[in-house]
Amino acid sequence: MRLRNVKGSRETIAANEYAMHLPEEYESYKGCWNKFFGNNNPIHIEIGMGKGQFIMDLARMNPDINYIGIEKYSSVLVRALEKRPELETKNLIFIRMDAEDIVKVFDKNEIERIYLNFSDPWPKDRHAKRRLTSTQFLNKYNQLLQLDGKVIFKTDNRPLFDFSLEQVEEAGWTLENYTYDLHNSEYVEGNVMTEYETKFVAEGKPICRMVISREEN
Ligand code: SAM
Repeated sequence: MRLRNVKGSRETIAANEYAMHLPEEYESYKGCWNKFFGNNNPIHIEIGMGKGQFIMDLARMNPDINYIGIEKYSSVLVRALEKRPELETKNLIFIRMDAEDIVKVFDKNEIERIYLNFSDPWPKDRHAKRRLTSTQFLNKYNQLLQLDGKVIFKTDNRPLFDFSLEQVEEAGWTLENYTYDLHNSEYVEGNVMTEYETKFVAEGKPICRMVISREEN
């Protein structure tokens, strides 16, 4: 993804009540995110939320679920913050961090669902570990997902999707369902579109989606 530096984005995030960017702050909530939200509702996260349309729509539709959007780049996250005041509920916050460190932020069984939408493909073999569906990342998700928790992954990138199917098997996860063409499948009902998805669907590209889980942690 091509990134344009947005001047002052770090300062905007630092001053915003709905965003965290200091490890000492967001890591201090490990194991007690429910106290942060002030309730015992389930917590769903999106890793690589971009400008945040998807997670904001979900937060609006599901006030009884707490949402945390994770994004690596300040210049992208500020775009989500511009829209955040439109949402009147308190069930959504953002963290600016690299998902590499996710196990420092969430404790065992703390997360019910992880969304990965149009994750960066990292096409070179030597970068495969950085793909958010690699076994390295699945092992991290294993350390924070509830027993019945799920990872839901959407992409237009068929090589990344095929790689991910292999990784799911290698990591011993369960493939609950998958499709190579979400918008022409039975699974489309209730689908919430992301920014990238809207663009790709308009271009006529098929969207792949998988739902995965694991039996033990
Ligand atoms: N999910 C959005 C959508 O579907 O419209 C954005 C997709 S964009 C292609 C991928 C996003 O993931 C980018 O904003 C990128 O900065 C973010 N990202 C990639 N790797 C990440 C990581 N390791 N940790 C956090 N965010 C990451």
